[in-house]
Amino acid sequence: MSRPRSVERLIESFGRLPGIGPKTSERLTYFLLRSEKRVAAELVKAIEDARNSTKVCSQCFNLDEVEPCRVCADETRDRSVVLVVEDPRDVAAFEESGFRGLYHVLQGRVSSLEGIGLDDLTLTALEQRIRDEPPEEIVLATNPDLEGEGTAQLIVERLAETGARLTRIARGIPAGATITQVSKSILSDAVEGRRPLS
Ligand SMILES: [Zn+2]
Repeated sequence: MSRPRSVERLIESFGRLPGIGPKTSERLTYFLLRSEKRVAAELVKAIEDARNSTKVCSQCFNLDEVEPCRVCADETRDRSVVLVVEDPRDVAAFEESGFRGLYHVLQGRVSSLEGIGLDDLTLTALEQRIRDEPPEEIVLATNPDLEGEGTAQLIVERLAETGARLTRIARGIPAGATITQVSKSILSDAVEGRRPLS
């Protein structure tokens, strides 16, 4: 006997999430079907609420429930420094580490494997920001791995003619680790020890 169609669909849906293989999606599906109905209902509600109440900030491309995001709207932030990150998750990590400047979220990184180029990121918007309200310093805080370093290098070349002062976070993040995985103190040290690129 094959599985009911609705069960197959749920397994397929979980399988589309990052990091979830066929075994895990099957396990999650049967867990939900076995557990109290309330558990599944809460999950559905939480997904809907998060999806419907968040929006992308038109200035920095961070994710928040308000637009512009709370960082961009906060008058007490240091507007002279813009930290360029790959993903809203990185914003959350740098916020935890105590960074008090502004952000620019690239919404990804350059990856030849996935066919993602510089123009697929929010770089045009960053160039516009530099023209409209030039920050004193732009700190490239992409991940310290191959694709993150490559992305930073390409951004340096692209922004060269804007005359912006570019720096890169210090190499203090252990090899193989991403920004979202390391401690607050490592991140604050990485920002503190940033080095000039231009
Ligand atoms: Zn923002």
